Amino acid sequence: MRSESYWLDTAPAFAGAQTGAVEGQVDVAIVGGGFTGLSAARALAMKGASVAVLEADRVIGEASGRNGGQCNTGVAQDYSALTASLGADQARAYYLAYESAVKSVVAVVEQEQIACDMTRNGKLKLAAKPMHFDGMARTCELIRREVDADVELLSAQETRAEVDSAEFHGGLLQRNGVQMHVGRFGVGLADAAVRHGAQVFQNAAVKSWKANASGYLLNTAKGSIQAKQIMLATGACQHGGPGWYRRRIVPVGSFVIVTEVLPQALIDQLLPQHRAYVTSRMIGNYFRLTPDNRLLFGGRARFAMSNTTSDAKSGKVLRAAMVQMFPQLASAKVDYCWGGLVDMTSDRLPRAGEHEGVFYSMGYSGHGVQMSVHMGQVMADVMDGNPQANPWRELDWPAVPGHFGTPWFLPLVGAWYRFQDARH
Ligand SMILES: Cc1cc2nc3c(=O)[nH]c(=O)nc-3n(C[C@H](O)[C@H](O)[C@H](O)COP(=O)(O)OP(=O)(O)OC[C@H]3O[C@@H](n4cnc5c(N)ncnc54)[C@H](O)[C@@H]3O)c2cc1C
Repeated sequence: MRSESYWLDTAPAFAGAQTGAVEGQVDVAIVGGGFTGLSAARALAMKGASVAVLEADRVIGEASGRNGGQCNTGVAQDYSALTASLGADQARAYYLAYESAVKSVVAVVEQEQIACDMTRNGKLKLAAKPMHFDGMARTCELIRREVDADVELLSAQETRAEVDSAEFHGGLLQRNGVQMHVGRFGVGLADAAVRHGAQVFQNAAVKSWKANASGYLLNTAKGSIQAKQIMLATGACQHGGPGWYRRRIVPVGSFVIVTEVLPQALIDQLLPQHRAYVTSRMIGNYFRLTPDNRLLFGGRARFAMSNTTSDAKSGKVLRAAMVQMFPQLASAKVDYCWGGLVDMTSDRLPRAGEHEGVFYSMGYSGHGVQMSVHMGQVMADVMDGNPQANPWRELDWPAVPGHFGTPWFLPLVGAWYRFQDARH
């Protein structure tokens, strides 16, 4: 079994990185070479700006190359809860932002002709308990009435025809989501940014920056560069992003296993529609098939940070959950196991804008494959003088109480979630 991301292991190498020192001056320095940073770099370069992406390690080496590969419409929060807390108009606007985000990903793939096995198979949310199905029925009715007539409620029997497991009591189907090989997509996005004129530096962690008369001087592990504008695209901020952000983002471990290639007949029986699937528990699971017919199965598994030991322990928890869901996979070999950090906000809504002259976009809370790509483009517009382009501009962003950068409270959150799962 390999302790690395299947997506990164099976993607082509990115060959477009700068090899020399970080030096000179640019219009925009982007800190972070995940989907947010690369998408912003591409969009800014297409507008004619000179751009340098400064990545601490390798491009898409963190969440963007380590995720579950779901690229769906729909907000991270339950739509009924979002409507209750923010009102119908704001909830609709946020839902539509995710629809636009999926469209942005599709447009990038088409415009740049990225070979990343993109298909539109939709997402099926699976009710793990009868009362979850009742909640889904109410949410489905609300979404259909307010914002998306395409959403459909599936009965337990219809769900069983889609997912051959005895575990589910129905499902909520959203047809507009797409799937792709996120590693191939990410390398294609990086190549496209370079093709449009952006410079990409790897192993160039940004250690600090200082404002001066012509913008900012950024100090990196590979030299210094002057920029008129800075954009922070640092995801879960584990490389020591500035304290203001670290107090607002909670890095939460999420873990993934990928099986060996499965026989076609077994796939036709288990998951004939090849959708993206997610379960309704607080500590739930997400799964989908890879382009070469493996099952990718992920979830929070343990409330711990991701590291080699933690990933391996989580892999065992995930394998047990997968076999409980699909006893037909009891003898399937697990070929890959890895973890990563999700950039959570306390309300699971992204945050983007400008703080002390520096632009940022992060906090996608596990729904960032589409939103990071979209927000990279949106932030290029914002930095070009159009703040109205940002769908999240009205959200305030208080620090998480008691959070000073290390999420000491995660085991308590895990215990609370387990309690909720047992109760409801
Ligand atoms: C296990 C897992 C499963 C997930 N599953 C899904 C899913 O199925 N669907 C979905 O929509 N979302 C999912 N997500 C979330 C999604 O992957 C992220 O929201 C998205 O990739 C964020 O992209 P990003 O570019 O903002 O951040 P990242 O991809 O994390 O990139 C940030 C980059 O910034 C760099 N960096 C940080 N600090 C510095 C510094 N000081 N100097 C230079 N560089 C720096 C990092 O090295 C990193 O490469 C998942 C995440 C994880 C971890």
